[in-house]
Amino acid sequence: MQTYKLIAPAKINLYLEIIGDRPDGYHELVMIVQSIDLADHLEIRPNGTQNFHLICSHPQVPTDETNLAYRAAQLMKQEFSKAFANYGGVDITIDKRIPVAAGLAGGSTDAAGVLVGLNLSWELGLTLPELQQLGQKLGSDVPFCLAGGTVIATGRGEKLDPIEDLENLWVVLAKYKSLEVSTPWAYQTYRKQFGQEYISDRPGVQSRTLKVHSGPLVQAISHKDKTKIGQLLHNDLEKVVLPEHPQVNHLRNILQQSGGLGTMMSGSGPTVFTLCQSQEEAETIKNKAKLVISDPNLEFWVTRLSSTGIKVIS
Ligand code: ATP
Repeated sequence: MQTYKLIAPAKINLYLEIIGDRPDGYHELVMIVQSIDLADHLEIRPNGTQNFHLICSHPQVPTDETNLAYRAAQLMKQEFSKAFANYGGVDITIDKRIPVAAGLAGGSTDAAGVLVGLNLSWELGLTLPELQQLGQKLGSDVPFCLAGGTVIATGRGEKLDPIEDLENLWVVLAKYKSLEVSTPWAYQTYRKQFGQEYISDRPGVQSRTLKVHSGPLVQAISHKDKTKIGQLLHNDLEKVVLPEHPQVNHLRNILQQSGGLGTMMSGSGPTVFTLCQSQEEAETIKNKAKLVISDPNLEFWVTRLSSTGIKVIS
């Protein structure tokens, strides 16, 4: 049995709107999700035992059964017990490059990588939609992480409609190293503060969801109107995360004043990004922001938008 090496990209949210509550207790969302080149590197190596073993040296990443990548392996074992009995367990090594609890879907993309890796290792021949069906059981972002690109995501975020790829755009990402935001906290706080504004009837939810397909940002993306794309970035969760974390709000303001097409927080944060026309522009903005906030706790990444999800490199 072969060892597989995979690239598992992070995502940013170009748009995140909270529509209302769902009967299953989750939020009904309308998002435009975008994969980026910043990625974790995974290795799936057969270990000749009947166990999974997870290796990751990042201090914030658990290596037990709470790791989403480990849970992905357990799910595959449950669903394909014959293949597991036949081929056995694997060592899963995660070279963690995506910041943790950052609103960049780091755990979800690792889980997506394990689904793809075991599909190959165990010669299951599952298709992308079949893998996405499994991925949904692990988390709402997993189906997107499998496919990647530029996508309208609705429902809990698991219903995907690919749109035009956004090529040749760059982002500067910035995050305070020691600051994490829990995704459940962000959504629960939003519900407490803005729940009375939710659309609650199903036809209302459906008609709002359909509107996004003809919405201004989707149009700007299909017309490749970069200026408009930058102006139309939106994230409802900023309304709860920024007041709670004034230093993130300050960082967002500094990035916005430093140039680029537009600045926004990704997902539940606390990562903030600025969309840029080129790598040079992104580097300039990073350097300007670094001059204003010279904090060793603040980290920056310059990376490109990507049109792919999980990639198998060998
Ligand atoms: P999302 O954008 O999907 O809400 P996130 O990027 O905000 O996710 P993650 O990096 O996935 O957040 O981490 C959230 C929590 O999940 C972390 O605090 C960490 O303890 C736990 N976790 C479990 N598995 C992983 C993993 N493979 N990588 C990173 N964190 C993981």
